[in-house]
Amino acid sequence: MHAVNIGPEFGKENLKFVDVEKPQPRHGEVLVRIIKAGVNPIDYNLIHGKIVYNLSPVPHVPGSEAIGVVESDGSIFRKGDHVMVYNRVFDGTCDMCRSHREHLCRNGGIWGVVTNGAYTEYVALPERNLFRIPDKLNHEVAVSLPIGGLTSYRALMRAGAKPGDSVLIYGASGNTGIFASQIASLMGLEVYGVSRKDWVRDYGCGQVFKTGEVPADFKADIVINSLGADFWKESVSHVATGGNIVSFGVLTGREASLDIAHLYTSEIGIIGSTGGSLEDLSRLLKLAEIHDFKAPVATRMKLMQISRAMDEFEKIRDGRIILEVS
Ligand SMILES: [Zn+2]
Repeated sequence: MHAVNIGPEFGKENLKFVDVEKPQPRHGEVLVRIIKAGVNPIDYNLIHGKIVYNLSPVPHVPGSEAIGVVESDGSIFRKGDHVMVYNRVFDGTCDMCRSHREHLCRNGGIWGVVTNGAYTEYVALPERNLFRIPDKLNHEVAVSLPIGGLTSYRALMRAGAKPGDSVLIYGASGNTGIFASQIASLMGLEVYGVSRKDWVRDYGCGQVFKTGEVPADFKADIVINSLGADFWKESVSHVATGGNIVSFGVLTGREASLDIAHLYTSEIGIIGSTGGSLEDLSRLLKLAEIHDFKAPVATRMKLMQISRAMDEFEKIRDGRIILEVS
């Protein structure tokens, strides 16, 4: 079978399309044929050697977001089941796992980073990492839920989102932004987006500010900044008194400064969030069953076009890049 490989030299010019052996499921695992995989900042950064986590193995099969078909019977899943991958490796026994925070497992990490990932034809995965895809759920939404959807859902939960709150979402047209606005809107929040794209209105944004044009006196109960340093100062300035800013990405840089006096005199909370737990994904899937989430797709490509997918990722796109694997 074929797989994408990167490392020990990184950068898209070093991507290889190689022949590898089909994996053999171990105890508790099933074989999954990948149908679709997504391209996320984490995959882009990994391929370019800019990952903030420990990478293993090297050379490496990237890809942290996938849906597929189960190809071997397990104890929970049967051959033919359509599944999405909960993309966290976790031991199930540490204090984090025991308190339902598998994504913070002390001995785990991100699937596709601490292990080989999705940019291949078949993977062997523990059944506890799989969720059945509801029949009516669109496959391009399904492939987008375990990263974009889950990260947004947990970020909103951690920020204490409740009906009637206002939320300002930086990067509203991005992989997470499109879900942050849909989920917030579904929960009854007033949703404001920051984006160059007007189409984000179709994804739940009641009002869209062009990048750099959020009015100076505009305040929101929750500000979501997944873009990192370049937007930090501006995004903090838009948090209402007693509100929260939540962060889960560093696309424009990882270090920023802070006016500590503004922080405490306005009782602003700074919240970090990363991915989500098994329970978060299960709750998000229930929402997806009753609400038609949408995922805009800019480009669909074959696995062997991975290098072109990296070029596309660098552009300002109208939606996601989806790799059609089989
Ligand atoms: Zn654990």
